[in-house]
Amino acid sequence: MSRDYKTDKKANRKRHTTGLLLLCLLFIIVGVGIMFGLDNTRKGLVEDCENALLWEVQLTAREVSDDIENRFVALETIQEMIVQTCGIGPEAMKTLAATKIRYGMDYLAMIDTEYTYYDNEGDIIPDTQTVNIEAAMAGKRVVARSVDEVSGDGVVFMVPCKDGEEIVGVLAAKTSREKLLDKLSVKPQEGTDLVVDTYGNVVLMADDFGNYLEGMSWDEFSQKGDSWKPKKEFDEEMQLKGCAVAAAMSKAGKEIYFAAAKVDGYEDFFVVRLTSSEVVEKEIRQSMDRIYFLMVIMAISIGGVVASALVVCVRNRVEIYNTAYVDQLTGLPSKAKHKMDAQELINKNEDKYAYVTFDVDNFKYVNEMFGYEYGNKVLNHIAKNIREFVKNGELCARIASDNFAMLLIDEGTQKELETRIYDLFKKITEPGKPGEVLNICSLNFSCGVYRIDGKQDINVVRANANLARTENKKSVIDEIIFYDEKLKARRVEEKELEYEAEGALINGDFLVYFQPKYDVETEKIIGAEALVRWLHPVKGMLSPALFVPLFEGNGFITEIDLYVLDRVCELIESWIKNGVPPICISVNLSRIHLYERDLVKRLSEVVSRHNVPPEYIEFELTESAFYEETENLLRIMAEIKASGFRLSMDDFGSGYSSLNLLRRLPVDVLKLDKVFLEDCEEGEDETRGKRIVTHVISMAKDLKMEVLAEGVETSNQKEFLQNAKCDMIQGYYYARPMPINEFELLYKSDKSL
Ligand code: C2E
Ligand code: MG
Ligand code: MG
Repeated sequence: MSRDYKTDKKANRKRHTTGLLLLCLLFIIVGVGIMFGLDNTRKGLVEDCENALLWEVQLTAREVSDDIENRFVALETIQEMIVQTCGIGPEAMKTLAATKIRYGMDYLAMIDTEYTYYDNEGDIIPDTQTVNIEAAMAGKRVVARSVDEVSGDGVVFMVPCKDGEEIVGVLAAKTSREKLLDKLSVKPQEGTDLVVDTYGNVVLMADDFGNYLEGMSWDEFSQKGDSWKPKKEFDEEMQLKGCAVAAAMSKAGKEIYFAAAKVDGYEDFFVVRLTSSEVVEKEIRQSMDRIYFLMVIMAISIGGVVASALVVCVRNRVEIYNTAYVDQLTGLPSKAKHKMDAQELINKNEDKYAYVTFDVDNFKYVNEMFGYEYGNKVLNHIAKNIREFVKNGELCARIASDNFAMLLIDEGTQKELETRIYDLFKKITEPGKPGEVLNICSLNFSCGVYRIDGKQDINVVRANANLARTENKKSVIDEIIFYDEKLKARRVEEKELEYEAEGALINGDFLVYFQPKYDVETEKIIGAEALVRWLHPVKGMLSPALFVPLFEGNGFITEIDLYVLDRVCELIESWIKNGVPPICISVNLSRIHLYERDLVKRLSEVVSRHNVPPEYIEFELTESAFYEETENLLRIMAEIKASGFRLSMDDFGSGYSSLNLLRRLPVDVLKLDKVFLEDCEEGEDETRGKRIVTHVISMAKDLKMEVLAEGVETSNQKEFLQNAKCDMIQGYYYARPMPINEFELLYKSDKSL
């Protein structure tokens, strides 16, 4: 058992470790998965940011394109109007001044083919070197950056002036950078735009552009080449789609996002947008924060689910443990748990132990008489006491119903151990306060003790203690039996008797003795009780007290009782045949018969086989048979009565019979047990026992029952019973049980036949 338990423990530990390792592995896999997932998510977010950047720069490029187009259209309208009205020359200057205001230009000028400038201010355009006037003179639209001291930083737009198909000059307009920057609509802190031409020349640049280049100028930045690493595909994509995005690393190791888009219709121009990685990072961080938040919520939810699953699991385990290892009624350890713990302690072999097992005598009747609720209270009371009784390093348990067990340290003598256990029984049965459990009934215990010899198997230990316990079942006082080899030998002997019984019955070794019953008034024999004996070839005459309980255990008593009935019927049959007046003979019926369906049928068969009228047969049912199977009992009693037999209740007063029960039972004779007479020995009239007997007799008569007193041994007892109006007497005072022939002689002489 203990080995099983240890193996179980080891297996459990192994299972737990494997479970834990698997759980760790699962966490690692999930962790790596999450990291991988997060990395991918991050990459996805970076891509999203890049796409957004690309989309924004394309939008800006389109706006820039529209703006340039609008300006050129306006300039072309102006040049047409001026060429037609006044031509290029001083005359045109007034018109230019008015137009400048109307069209919201900062600066307007006309240049004739001789490169003479006519502007509204009358000044010459300062930076003729940077602006490609020739291209305009050749018929092209020109747009370029122009920085000069007078008009500041701005962009110059030029269109050719045409008189019909002939180019007569150029119309130039300059708009300040501030006005144009509106089109480069970047939100503050999100980045900066610039417009450059295919040669890398900056056309338009926001003020803060330099901040994003970490102090470098655009020229420096665009010249850096290898020091930053845009995507390889950047140029290819630019060619293919007209737009591209790249992450560039600055010299300081800072990442710069770089997106460019061609300006529609003005293939020479690009809008470039720079965004520092911080902006992208910020967005990524916000998205990642949302993801982290969701993950935390998920982790909390999963954690909650796992935690509640664990709680349920633990609760289930506790429940299973409690069901298997804790006695539900008393809270003491169960038999299974007790056996494991006891084996473990015994195996440690640190102390000497004694195994004690005890039960309450006739506890079944306590339940029957006082109800199961009361029975449970009694068991709890015992449990409480033994729990207080056992010391550290000792064990106690409830094995089954009223059976308890303890493993006690046994370092002293047997006497000391016995005294200790008696003290426990005394404590349990100590009268409590009024209304407390044990004021209702008193208890007796049957206790068996086995003093353990070193390391022993718990099953052997328990079997030996149980053997000792069941040895003293018939006692009415608390009895503690210590296991010894003699006890074991006696058990072996009992087993032998059980084994020999069948052969003995066939052999006629069972004898039927008769004990006469006397009429109290006439002192004549009015009946007899048949009592069985076993004349054993080796052991001699054996008392029924020795073998009846054995045969009740294996069911053989049924055969004995039928055999006795057969002998009784044989006698009565012979009397009838020989003209001897028959008297009623009683036969004992074991309570084991109550479980037989066709009992009465079998009894009737025997009686009618001998042609004996049923009124000459009385069946004695012992008092304790009346506690259980009440319905069954009533049925059998009714059948017995219906078949014409007489019925008596044997040993009344030896147990827990209630007078109430008597009212419901069709009993003809009440046989008072000899315990009633113990108190009637003295000549005194008014002992308590005498009063009880007197009342029981008068009550039985009230119920139309006859009363027989068993075990009458003295004349005092006989006289008292005569006065108490008892009907019949059976006892050594008149005659002991005797063989059939002796009884026949006695009866005949008594009858004076
Ligand atoms: P019981 O039926 O109560 O029988 C009465 C017992 O008291 C008998 O014991 C008898 O010998 C004894 N007795 C009679 N007068 C006196 C007396 O004055 N003083 C004392 N001290 N004892 C007296 P016995 O024959 O040893 O039988 C014991 C019990 O065995 C019986 O008690 C009965 O319960 C059972 N028994 C005997 N024969 C049979 C049987 O054939 N079938 C069954 N089922 N049980 C039987
Ligand atoms: Mg009897
Ligand atoms: Mg009796």
